[in-house]
Amino acid sequence: MPRYEYRCRTCGDTFELNRPMAESGSPADCPQGHGDTVKLLSTVAVGGLAGAGSAAPAPGAGGGGGCCGGGCCA
Ligand SMILES: [Zn+2]
Repeated sequence: MPRYEYRCRTCGDTFELNRPMAESGSPADCPQGHGDTVKLLSTVAVGGLAGAGSAAPAPGAGGGGGCCGGGCCA
């Protein structure tokens, strides 16, 4: 699952969330409970944003020690 980084505009904190690509643009609450957050650039390079099979693992995503692709990090 792709990891996205967000920044809270209320307290300035940054945090990361693992969430489905389909929810990457959804609002994310800050760990402190604030809702005014902005999404930063993804910390993971995920190709195929066009959605060629939403459940297909991204090519090359398994080389960096991640476990995404087998569903073990769901
Ligand atoms: Zn906050």
